[in-house]
This record gives sequence, structure tokens and C-alpha cells, in this order.
Amino acid sequence: MRRWNGWGDDSHTYAVPQRAQTAFAEWVGAPVPPSDAPLEQALKAVPPSRLPSASFLSFTPEDRLRHARGQSLGDWVALRSGVVGPFPDAVAFPESSDDVRALLDWAKRTQTRLIPWGGGTSVAGHVNPERDVGPSVTVDMSRMSKLLKLDETSRLATFGAGVSGPDLEAQLRAHGLILGHFPQSFEYSTLGGWIATRSSGQQSALYGRIEKLFAGGRVETPEGTLQLPCFPASAAGPDLREMVLGSEGRLGVITEATVRVSLAPAREEFVGVFFPGWEEGLAASRAIAQARLPLSMLRLSAPEEARTMLTLAGHERLLRALEAWIRFRGAGEGKALLLIGSTGTEATVSFGLDQALTLAKKHAGISAGRTFGAQWTKNRFRAPYLRNTLWDLGYAVDTVETAAPWAAVPKVLNSVESALRQGLSRWNEKTHVYTHLSHLYADGSSIYTTYLFRLGSTPEETLERWRYLKAKASEAIVAAKGTISHQHGVGVDHAPYLPAEKGALGISALRGVLKHFDPSGVMNPGKLVRDGVMP
Ligand SMILES: Cc1cc2nc3c(=O)[nH]c(=O)nc-3n(C[C@H](O)[C@H](O)[C@H](O)COP(=O)(O)OP(=O)(O)OC[C@H]3O[C@@H](n4cnc5c(N)ncnc54)[C@H](O)[C@@H]3O)c2cc1C
Repeated sequence: MRRWNGWGDDSHTYAVPQRAQTAFAEWVGAPVPPSDAPLEQALKAVPPSRLPSASFLSFTPEDRLRHARGQSLGDWVALRSGVVGPFPDAVAFPESSDDVRALLDWAKRTQTRLIPWGGGTSVAGHVNPERDVGPSVTVDMSRMSKLLKLDETSRLATFGAGVSGPDLEAQLRAHGLILGHFPQSFEYSTLGGWIATRSSGQQSALYGRIEKLFAGGRVETPEGTLQLPCFPASAAGPDLREMVLGSEGRLGVITEATVRVSLAPAREEFVGVFFPGWEEGLAASRAIAQARLPLSMLRLSAPEEARTMLTLAGHERLLRALEAWIRFRGAGEGKALLLIGSTGTEATVSFGLDQALTLAKKHAGISAGRTFGAQWTKNRFRAPYLRNTLWDLGYAVDTVETAAPWAAVPKVLNSVESALRQGLSRWNEKTHVYTHLSHLYADGSSIYTTYLFRLGSTPEETLERWRYLKAKASEAIVAAKGTISHQHGVGVDHAPYLPAEKGALGISALRGVLKHFDPSGVMNPGKLVRDGVMP
């Protein structure tokens, strides 16, 4: 069963090796394990619903608790402490676009707020009910998960938007097809959620971000049904899909989505390459990204992340041997690690990897072969489970992410890292901070920074520290001219920083679009653009 106050299925755990526990204690201090609220206690705190009973709504405390929060660190503190904050007054589980339409009409009549819910994997406060806006219903899309239409000639597949990653791929696999959208939250996140947050999958270098995969669909808005027909390309004015991408549940509910699918690849390889230092790794990665090779993934871990990954990996003896060999070849302390993925036919994979490794070698890259790649592939969706075990030990882990042109990447990265490193000094606490570039483009890259710190002695203290760190990192991103989000979206947490990026005219245009589709403000209030907060 899915954990109600952490990540993933409760039958899966991911142990933190002893040497990593020792290292973390050395880097940020010895932790004190928290005492979390049990489920029964959290359920008792669910208040009575403010809505009258209705056959199409669930009022059970467990449904309401399980839909009260997403997966941000703030959400974790709330759920683990049992001080959850506002709950949805009920949860709806529509089974068709008609059900959603009826729900919207009812919500408009009764002035009830609706919060679309895909997998609840948001890390920016997207799915949390707002305080003081009246009753709200969370719209869980999980029952709309079928493959509705498959046009194999055009390689277009239409799904119910509540389909989760594994379910979607399984339904396509039966036809020898693949979507290829693999965010790390793949296990639970959904097609509708990906579109509504402009998500990016780990192999976006080949398959593209969700913007490229989303061909069209159907959105039920408070003002009516918006149909988005599929064309390979169109010059018929502005593309209305762009209003839906990143709309974060504010425009309406995406009920059906058509995606561009591909033949399942014949071959896929992931290879690890070490570099003596960050500069070499960065130069090689940029050169490879700009060569536009047939690769599916480039992921460059800066030295601190490479060190942390190696510390967290099991197989200690094997790793020691590998590290000794790499050191002998010239990459010791301060080494960076590039993971290169290639996916396609036998020939394209060989060609892509050969060319990429040749470029890497020009920058002193040392191939560690497939061992690293295989290890990464094995753990690609297991890594989030580490958050559970680290929390149980007494550590909070969070991430911030942005993107910038290549010329600005070092500045943005350094600003974010130093904001996070210094962030807890007023509490005499330390953070362990490390970064990778995970989505590399010809003109720039995403920058993904993880930070780990000790839980405070109370949930309030942890929350206060996290909020401070998050604010400092976000301010650093804005000041260095990075985007406030490359892939996680805006939600509540990033909304104060959006005006700096979009400008006053841009924000008012956005507001105008939201108002057009939702004049009475039924949809997911407070997300994306803060209501009543003008830039
Ligand atoms: C461990 C972890 C790893 C992650 N890794 C990645 C990653 O690699 N790449 C990435 O891009 N993101 C990642 N995320 C962030 C998150 O998974 C994405 O934002 C994802 O797209 C959210 O999908 P969801 O279905 O869970 O949506 P939810 O969290 O349920 O909702 C997110 C937003 O979308 C809206 N929404 C959801 N469904 C619909 C719908 N049908 N119609 C209208 N609006 C809707 C909601 O109202 C909300 O505003 C990660 C999160 C976690 C916790």
C-alpha cells in the first residue's frame, strides 16, 4: 500500500549503507530520529466536512487525509507531525469526462473549489487546499486511466489523463510502443499531472519533455469543454496547448490527453564516464549536448554529488576497486561523473555512444563502462525511497531546480549552492549540498541541487529552517537569472518568484486567461499566480 506520510509503497525500503550514515553524521552532525505521528492520530485530526453529503463524493477521513498534501518537504513535515493544515472537505473519483463536467457545474453552483489530483507527487504545494477560501473537493483522476484510442499509423495514443506512468507504459507495451516519459516520480505521477506541471522525464534528450509529447486532448473548464485537436504542426495562430501545459489545475481538468508514442527501442545502454574535475566534465557535457547526437540522457554529477552517490552506493569492495582504477587513470578527489544514455536501434546506440565517448575522451573522460550505468538504471525509481530512511534517521532532504543558458550555468549553480550551504549558519547547523545537471540542451542546462540537513528538535523548527533555505535558494535563482522551475512547476512555493520571470504584463495576461476559463475562481485557488498578489 502507498505510504500516507512518505514516498512509495510501504513494502519497499531503501537502506542507507553504514558508511553513508557515518559520512552524513560527519558532514552535518549526528541526527536524532524523530517521533512521527501515527496514522490513527492524524485521522483523528481530520475535521468534519463543510459540505452536505453527496453520492459522488467520498468523505472518509482516510481519503481526505491522503489527498491533503503532496510531496514537498513542507508536506512531509506536516504529515509526519500529524499537523496537516487544511484538508479537502471531500474527494471525488470521476470515471468519465461527463462526470467531471457534472462536478464542475455543481462546483460552480455551490462555489466549491476543485483541486485536480493526479498522483499527488507535486513538490511545490500544487495540491494543498488553501486556507480561508471555503470548502474544497479534491478531484482524484485515478479512475480515468484507460487507453481510449490508439492510432498506430500516426503513432498517437489517447489516454484518460489519470493514468500513472507504469500503467501507461504497460498499456503501450502491449502494442510494442513506448511514450518514454520517465520522471523520477514515474511510479505515481500521471499524464494529466505531467501536462499540468510541464514535467520533464529522465530521457527527455530523446523523447522530449511533455510539451513535445502532448499532441492534444480534452479539458473540462468551468466555462465549457476545450478540445485540442492533434496536428503534426500548425500555423493556425497561437497554439492553445500552451495554455494547458503548466496550467496547474487552474484552467480546468484535463480529462483526456493524446500523446506521441514511439516504437519500443531495440537497445538501450547507459554508460558512466568520470572526469578529473568539474571543468572537464562541464566542457565535455556541453560539447556532447551541442553535437546533437542520438542520445536519450546526459546527466552530469558535480564532484560533491559524485562523492555522495559513491558513498550511498552499496557494493563497497567493488566500488573501492573501481575508484582505485579511476584514480590510477587520473580522476581522484574532485572527480565529476557523467551518465550517458543511448536508446534506439543497434546502430544508433553504437553510433551515439561511440561519438559521445570520443568527445568525452577529448576532455580527459575515463569510461567506467556499463557498471555505473546499470547501477543507475536499477535504482532510477528507487532513489526517492531514500528520503524515507534518511528521515527515519533524522535527516530532511529536499531539492531545488532551475535552468539557465550555458554561459550562466556556473554562476547560477554556485549561487544556489552557496545560499544553501550558508543557509543554516544562524542556527549553527550545516547542510550537505550537491548538484547535477540532468537535462542538457544545446543552449543550456537544468541545474538540480539536493540538500540534506538535520531535522530540528520540533516540526516547527524543521519547517522554519526549510522555509528559510527554500527562500534563500529561490532568491539566489532569481538574482542569477535562472528560471524558478525547469520541471517541478510553480504551485504555491514558487509563485512569489514568478513575476520576476514573467513581468507585470505577462502575469496579468496569465491572470486574464485563467479568469476567462474560470471567472468565478473555482479551480485550484492560490496556485501558479497568487490571487490578489499583483507583481
Ligand atoms: C520523488 C519525486 C521525484 C520527482 N521527479 C520529477 C522529475 O524527474 N521530473 C519532473 O518533471 N517532476 C518530478 N517530480 C515532480 C512531480 O512528480 C511532477 O510535477 C509531476 O508532473 C506531478 O504529477 P502528478 O500526477 O503527481 O500531479 P499532482 O501532484 O497530483 O498535481 C500537480 C498539479 O497538476 C494538476 N493536475 C494534476 N492532474 C491534472 C489533470 N488531470 N487536469 C488538470 N490539472 C491536473 C494539479 O491540480 C496540480 O496543480 C518529482 C516529484 C517527486 C516527489
